[in-house]
Order: sequence, then structure tokens, then C-alpha cells
Amino acid sequence: MSRFSVRRLAAMKPYIPGEQPQDRKYIKLNTNECPYPPSPRVLEVINNNELSSLKLYPDPEAKVLREALAEYYGVKPSQVMVGNGSDEILAFFFMAFCDEEKKVAFPDITYGFYKVFAKLFGVDALQIPLREDFSIDVKDYIGIDRNIVIANPNAPTGLYLPLEDIERILRSNPDHLVLIDEAYIDFGGRSSIELLPKYDNLLICGTFSKSRALAGARLGYSIGTPEAIEDLNKIKFSFNPYNVNRLTLLAGKAAIEDREYFEDCRAKVIATREDTARRLKSLGFELTDSKANFLFARHPKLSGEECYLKLKEGGILVRYFDEPRTRDYVRITMGTPEEMKELMTYNNIDRCIEVQ
Ligand SMILES: *Cc1c(COP(=O)(O)O)cnc(C)c1O
Repeated sequence: MSRFSVRRLAAMKPYIPGEQPQDRKYIKLNTNECPYPPSPRVLEVINNNELSSLKLYPDPEAKVLREALAEYYGVKPSQVMVGNGSDEILAFFFMAFCDEEKKVAFPDITYGFYKVFAKLFGVDALQIPLREDFSIDVKDYIGIDRNIVIANPNAPTGLYLPLEDIERILRSNPDHLVLIDEAYIDFGGRSSIELLPKYDNLLICGTFSKSRALAGARLGYSIGTPEAIEDLNKIKFSFNPYNVNRLTLLAGKAAIEDREYFEDCRAKVIATREDTARRLKSLGFELTDSKANFLFARHPKLSGEECYLKLKEGGILVRYFDEPRTRDYVRITMGTPEEMKELMTYNNIDRCIEVQ
């Protein structure tokens, strides 16, 4: 730390991204990226013409992309905003809707960035323990007088909360926003977007990083009432009006319009998840009922870190957690069927267990 930093900086605990190693080639099953490339239409629209237009600023309103998203999700363009990854949308949410007075709550085990942003923006965050089996007890969220953030499906557990439960939470907290982070919704479960006409305290965010294979393009979106979207835009235009670059605007539109490719990709990822879950169970792993593009698994003979280290030796990266309730687990992103075969070979998962 330098001698110039503000006091707040010392207290900050930044988010630790999953490894993106540049030294050797790994099978990357650690950051929930899509194992397949973006839609071929994305590759078509990023052409030399567009590259030369990088001399110009992008559309700060992201009009064309927002219209495409609105069409896809059956809402009005005024109900949509886009961000530099959904991480940026989450930051805007904290800036627009949370302060000393308007506090926040989320599960104790969930996406790590919620805690980081709460600290960064000085917001009191109530971390509500999940049940022993990692499910959300809806009773804990009834009338709690706070904004609420729920990842659905949750990360890293993969567990999905049915919309009836989300409705109970929405109904009992009419004066607070409930943000549903749908980073993984395309891999199982129903989107809360259908509840928007009934609840003005509902806000949804999503990302192109997982199901649309654009993690490197950095694109997220939020859908809510026009009023809440206007609030988020006020933050965006006070912070970075050009938050989504020209190429990403084009890539996002092409990806959202190629429904066939999207359906094909997600069906493949879901099939891989179901197949891998069966195989891991037959090796003695215990799994949560993941509806995401990853599995959350533990083996009775192996800690999460041990499993991680053994697999890394074999050239496979997964994610483990250094937290009391999750240290027995690894989170395994679904790769291609070939990559998953590699994971399951004698040299890898099997050997992890035998070494014990
Ligand atoms: C990956 C992820 C995000 C962030 O996605 P980006 O759009 O890449 O910033 C947000 N929330 C959850 C739950 C995630 O898993």
C-alpha cells in the first residue's frame, strides 16, 4: 500500500477472480465460462469495418442492443439497461438503492461480489445463513426491511428458488427492492421477469458471460420498472456513459438474436451437467441439485482444496472455497463432453480419491 491511499482502502477486501492462468494450457472448469464459442453471427458482425469505427464513441444509450433485449424478454426498451458485465450492474444497484438507511441482505453463501460491493459502498449487509442443505429458508426473508439480493440459481450451490418463493419475498417487502441475479437462469428454472407486471419492487440482472459465451466481451443487463432503470441510468451517466464498447454492443445483439445457436448451446451444457452428475455420484461424490452450468460436489475422503490441487496437477482447473461451510466442496464448470471425459479419466478424479 502507498502512503497516499485513503483510509477506506485499507478496509477493502477485493473480489478474487478465479484463476486465468497464462503459463500453460489447462482444461478450464473454474470460472463458469461457456465451453463453446460465441454464435457465428457474433464473429460475422465484428468485421474490419467495425474495427475501424472504434475511433468513434459507442452509443451511450445502447439503443439497438436494448431493443433486441426488450424484444427477447417481452418488455419495453425503457425497462432495460446494459452494463460492463453484470458486475457493473450490481455496483450500480448498490450506488442507486443502498446506503446507511437502505440496507441490504443476501444469503451467507452466494456470489462473492455482493459482500465486496456492500463493503466498498459502506452498506450494512445482513448475511442470512442458508439451511444446512444450502437451500434458502424463505421465512428468513419475510418483511426484513432491507433490500434483498438473491442469485437464482444460487452460486456456488446451483440451487434454484421457485418463483412462488420469490413472490412471497416480493410481497412481504413492498418498500424494498428485491434484486434477482439470473446469471445462471438459462440452465434451468424460470426467469422472474414474468413477475415484473405484478411487482414494482422487482429488479433482475443477467449476463452474457455464461450462457451466451461472451465473458470476454463484458456484457450484463438489468430489467425492471422504467423508474428503477432510470435510477440505474442516473448512476451510469454519472460514472461511465460509454460503459459498453462498440464491439460488445454488436456482439450482444447478434448473440441475443441467434436463438437457435443459444438453444443448442444451453441444451448441450445441461446434458453435460446431467451426465457428469451421474458419473460423479457413481464415484462417491455428493452433489447439490444444480440448475446452473456447474456442479457443486464433495467427496467424503477429500477436502475441496485437496481435490483442486490433484486436478490441477492433471491440468484441470476447478474452484474450491476457503470458507467454513464450503471447504469440503469443489465447483466444477461444465466443459465440452471431451473435457469432461478428461476429468473423469483414471488420471484425474479417480486418482484423487485413490491417493487418500
Ligand atoms: C458470473 C456471475 C456474475 C457476473 O457476470 P459478469 O456479467 O461476467 O460480470 C454475476 N452474478 C453471478 C451470480 C455470477 O455467477
